[in-house]
Amino acid sequence: MNELENLFQNNQQWADAIKAEDPTFFEKLSKQQKPEYLWIGCADSRVPANEIVGLMPGELFVHRNIANCVVHTDLNCLSVIYYAVQVLKVKHIIVCGHYNCGGVQAAMLNEQFGLVDQWVRNIRDVYYHSRKKMACIADEKERLNLMCELNVKQQVANVCHIPAIQNAWSARQPLAVHGWIYDIKDGLLKKITDTFDNLSQVPEQYRVAELPK
Ligand code: ZN
Repeated sequence: MNELENLFQNNQQWADAIKAEDPTFFEKLSKQQKPEYLWIGCADSRVPANEIVGLMPGELFVHRNIANCVVHTDLNCLSVIYYAVQVLKVKHIIVCGHYNCGGVQAAMLNEQFGLVDQWVRNIRDVYYHSRKKMACIADEKERLNLMCELNVKQQVANVCHIPAIQNAWSARQPLAVHGWIYDIKDGLLKKITDTFDNLSQVPEQYRVAELPK
């Protein structure tokens, strides 16, 4: 027997359960997607986007990578954001980190982990700029968890610096960017940043679009 047969069985049961609730669910969904939210989260298997916020297929546009990074040269992430904002016209972008993130930890250690080191390199910058604050925290776990929060704050800022986001704000398109963190230990989400929904919240040095008239 195929060793992945159980996954196909799970899939059949899942599709059957949804169709039992709404027989036309997949047919309707196949015609279009109109999600209101873009989720940018960590690839960690313990942080499944749709399940955490109780949303069905079609309701959440999702991008995940190691340590929920938004890097200005990452065409993958930038394309997802561009499409979500300019084409799907999502109303909310949620950058969601999680405590005890292995990617964030990799950026804090004096060790090499291979290719991932380059990926989390911008988190090491956040770590460096926060070194005074970090030095005051004796507990290693506490330091890591604070860095997980600071990383979300930085990635939210990075989202706000993207031209496609600023162009949307300049055109008065309703769009809010949020920073959340998820606790694997209790399954709960917490807000950790302000909500960013207009260009005046972006520091002038990062503004590349005109304030709406
Ligand atoms: Zn992670």
